[in-house]
Amino acid sequence: MDRREFLKTGGLFLVGTPCVYGLMAMAAPRPHEAGATDARRWGMVIDLNRCPADCSACLEACRRENNVAVHGDRRWDIHWIRKVTIRKKHEADAPTRTLPLLCNHCDHPPCAQVCPVQATYKRADGIVIVDHHRCIGCRYCLIACPYNARYFNYRENDEWPNKAYPKRSHGVAESCNFCAHRLDQGRPPACVEACRDSGAGALKVGDLDDPDSEISRLIADNSVKRIREDLGTEPKVYYIGL
Ligand code: SF4
Ligand code: SF4
Repeated sequence: MDRREFLKTGGLFLVGTPCVYGLMAMAAPRPHEAGATDARRWGMVIDLNRCPADCSACLEACRRENNVAVHGDRRWDIHWIRKVTIRKKHEADAPTRTLPLLCNHCDHPPCAQVCPVQATYKRADGIVIVDHHRCIGCRYCLIACPYNARYFNYRENDEWPNKAYPKRSHGVAESCNFCAHRLDQGRPPACVEACRDSGAGALKVGDLDDPDSEISRLIADNSVKRIREDLGTEPKVYYIGL
């Protein structure tokens, strides 16, 4: 029985339900947690010099893999990864940069800090995840995320391209989960794989705590930036060429 069915059939017992439901949710195993280990800390490096402005391979792969909702209406569309074009403030002639934006899997995630039911949590390996069975749809996390990386699934999504992965629930918050289900199987996130297969190779994922990992070497050997480091969220997505 999913969250909505439970609430419907339990309508007659509403007084006792929140307490029972809360206990059930707290007792349920967390999604994608089995593969997490504190032996690694996942992060990402995005090399903008390798990322063509008109490429959307990562966005499309993410939608296909994670059944992310596309309604063709910006009020309802969800973007686990999106591309934005930026220009330096107060410099009208400054060149623009187009960059992929996604959840930064912050080491100090404000989205998790404000969640009243611990639906948003950080796994042992640093991936920040929403447990859709626990989320009550309050949207505090959307307000708390300084990166606009959180979306709310306002509408039912009829599309279900990847049957191996759950259809998205509506009425809950969501954001990129670094394809934790794939990382747990030793496979790269769908966006990283698509970027590699396109020949660009701009997205890399790996262990930030391993000084010999590819991303640790990229961070050591290049001038890298993280977005809004000043906020103290400790984002784990690093940009080269920003
Ligand atoms: S980027 Fe936003 S949604 Fe992702 S972990 Fe940080 S605060 Fe949370
Ligand atoms: S919308 Fe869901 S995940 Fe976000 S703060 Fe509320 S309960 Fe937590």
